[in-house]
Amino acid sequence: MPKKLRATLIRGDGIGPEIADATVRAVAAAGGRIEWEDMPAGQSAFEKFHDPLPAQTVRSIETHRVALKGPLATLSGEGFRSVNVALRQKFDLYANVRPVRTVDGVPTRYDAVDLVVVRENTEDLYIGVEHYVDPRRSAAEAIAITTRVGSERIVRYAFEYARRHRRKKVTLVHKANILKFTNGLFLDVGRQVARQFPKVQFEEMIVDACAMKLVIDPSRFDILVTTNLFGDILSDLTAGLVGGLGLAPGANLGAGCAIFEAVHGTAPDIAGKGVANPSALMLAAAMLLDHVGQSQAAERLRQGVFSALRHPAERTRDVGGTADTKGFTAAVTRHMGLKRGRTA
Ligand code: NAD
Repeated sequence: MPKKLRATLIRGDGIGPEIADATVRAVAAAGGRIEWEDMPAGQSAFEKFHDPLPAQTVRSIETHRVALKGPLATLSGEGFRSVNVALRQKFDLYANVRPVRTVDGVPTRYDAVDLVVVRENTEDLYIGVEHYVDPRRSAAEAIAITTRVGSERIVRYAFEYARRHRRKKVTLVHKANILKFTNGLFLDVGRQVARQFPKVQFEEMIVDACAMKLVIDPSRFDILVTTNLFGDILSDLTAGLVGGLGLAPGANLGAGCAIFEAVHGTAPDIAGKGVANPSALMLAAAMLLDHVGQSQAAERLRQGVFSALRHPAERTRDVGGTADTKGFTAAVTRHMGLKRGRTA
């Protein structure tokens, strides 16, 4: 029996522990050989250790270099700085990769969506340098950083991803008409990188037009590469095109470390009710399994998730079903390894 690989597990806040439990079960049922090291982070860690990102959690990720992370709560406009952002910066996880595709049987407005958002993850307005200009808080200002190195590596990542996954087109999304220096640099570097990949089609698009075109015809897109803020917004938009946040996984990748997560947040409105959809975290775990070379288990896990999602009685309420988290997880396990025809 091959040795298990050790990986950090952060269950997270809100629905995090419910969907993490479901995912750990599903990974084991799929034959994933992972030994999880449970580590605290987020609001729950803050309440217990007075630190939303305790040193032992950072050490665990430094040791294993691979982690699966549930959603973490970040208050708007107050409280501690986002742990998600801190993790991305600490481990230099510069590429945020969010694949989105139409799921058979899940009712949506669009067919044939199959695209990937590649979001720059460490720069732009999200570097967290902002302040009020005076004690009366009469105004606030923030700094956006765009570097040549940061732009180059993310656009190159998008093109290399296209080549590896036999995708045809990269659309660079920007706002260089208004943000002439920061987005201008991103676009300029993007054009230079694109010339090195003549077999992959390249197009540039202003972010507002891109949002409109995504809604009119998402099937015209293949890979979108963009800056941190635009990538954050557009990846929620694209998740909505295929049935919502409950289905969208993501990977945060750097040179020596990878953290996999769902795109969605802690869903406080349904936390603790046992009805959350664990699909996104399960699909993120499948990306993790691929990343560590356990592709067969990854494929079994994906097959279980996509097969279960085809049945209204087996999927969760957010995607038009009636099952709870446990019921869906049992269905995922049941469908693993079954041939498509037999599950219908
Ligand atoms: P959210 O993604 O938590 O929820 C938005 C809506 O989608 C809610 O109605 C929720 O019920 C629903 N939803 C999300 N995931 C679902 C799932 N798996 N199953 C069923 N329904 C689901 O966004 P929000 O309410 O804006 O944010 C809540 C908290 O999450 C905030 O503190 C925010 O900072 C945090 N957040 C964390 C991450 C992360 O850790 N990566 C990402 C986004 C938001």
